[in-house]
Amino acid sequence: MTTKKITKVSGGEDSPQKPTFVPTAEAKAQAGKLRKNGVILWVLAVVAEIIAMVILFRKDPEIPLSTGSRVMLIIILLVDLILLIAGSMLWKKANRFDPASKQDALSFFFQNQMGVVAAVIAFLPVVILAFIKKEYLVGAIAALFLVGGGVASADFKPPSKEEYAKQSNYVNELMGVDHVYWTKSGTKYHLYEDCQYLKSDRTTEIFEGGTVSDAYAHNSKIKPDMNSLCSACEKRAAKEKGWTDEQLQEMKDKATNAVQNAAQPPQTEQKAESEN
Ligand SMILES: [Zn+2]
Repeated sequence: MTTKKITKVSGGEDSPQKPTFVPTAEAKAQAGKLRKNGVILWVLAVVAEIIAMVILFRKDPEIPLSTGSRVMLIIILLVDLILLIAGSMLWKKANRFDPASKQDALSFFFQNQMGVVAAVIAFLPVVILAFIKKEYLVGAIAALFLVGGGVASADFKPPSKEEYAKQSNYVNELMGVDHVYWTKSGTKYHLYEDCQYLKSDRTTEIFEGGTVSDAYAHNSKIKPDMNSLCSACEKRAAKEKGWTDEQLQEMKDKATNAVQNAAQPPQTEQKAESEN
């Protein structure tokens, strides 16, 4: 395909300076579907683990397994690993449609790192049993899969309602509307459809437009971070507004504060001293 195609994910004007992010019904439904499928894959991973455990359980610790049985066990554990990681991918994708709030630190942690919990459930019991049954090679491989599967399942840059709201507010300040553009494999989102970085090397790629949260939901390569806004687009928007760097920073702070003030109870509100 050589033509540039714009897929409109969703339009919609939003009122600026929202204290928190609320996913659309559509995004919520999508997240629910992804989470359900993720959990199904995790359950299947545990089924694979149980099959491996049944084989190990029946074994006499003093009699080593045949090479054929060992190979079969390792294949079953590999299936366990693939199902685990596939489930975690869906789970992490779901969180980008419907992120957790940082206000509750514990539930924020568990919603984002549920894949690590799944990795422990899908591998730790079989690791222990393999060592009890003196199947050290199988045990070592299962332990390796536990660590590898755990790392692959963790979300090192989890999305949050607060981060979405902050950036949506900022885009609203810059453009008057929460509408951005991104490509399937790009790591930034853009304010202008004709941005040089969108045009230069991605002319053949399908790119999409929608809200900041749509950008995160549809491209997992964009990190949920203020720096994911294309700096060229940011500068251009500031120039069009006639803003100085200080004014731009002020707007950024305003967008951030609208979210942080809402996240903090009034009694802990602190007056930030700004040093210039
Ligand atoms: Zn740009």
